[in-house]
Amino acid sequence: MITEKRAKARPEKGVEDLLLHLGEDLSRPGVANTPRRFVKAMEELTRGLREPPPEVVFFPLEYEAQVGPVVIENIGAVSVCEHHLLPILLRVSVAYIPGDGVPGLSKVIKLVKWAAARPIMQERFTEWLADLLMERLRARAVKVRVCGVHMCSFIRGARDEHHNMVTEARRGDIDVRLSCRRPLSCR
Ligand SMILES: [Zn+2]
Repeated sequence: MITEKRAKARPEKGVEDLLLHLGEDLSRPGVANTPRRFVKAMEELTRGLREPPPEVVFFPLEYEAQVGPVVIENIGAVSVCEHHLLPILLRVSVAYIPGDGVPGLSKVIKLVKWAAARPIMQERFTEWLADLLMERLRARAVKVRVCGVHMCSFIRGARDEHHNMVTEARRGDIDVRLSCRRPLSCR
């Protein structure tokens, strides 16, 4: 059903209509290719809706111990908010206790970036991400902390450039304090 509707959609026409509504002159050379570029940019920001999740590789530990928790801090990712389609800049910190096999670091990072690449509501995204990581990392326990700067509150609406929305979710028995830097801060 979604695929059928998607095939019929004319996204570039939609962007042209929006530009007309805003009062832009569509014959101006500077905006001639803007509808195509805008659609491409939105496709990039929401690629997680259409692309399969990156496959996670597991390495044997080769040591008699239970590992954990493993913490990866400050994974940078970008989403768009589902209410305004404006970007959300994210920093995601993840902790997990591996099950059998230790997941490869770069695949965990890629998985978080893939998960973020779609329209989200941060509160729900955080819960979903915890479930996704439990499943995909075959983890015994997971905790995530998501810090987000929402452009819909930064450049419009409340127009607050200092906010940092922080959400956390936990699955299983894991006791670790996570921190993440505010997106946009340089240290
Ligand atoms: Zn929004």
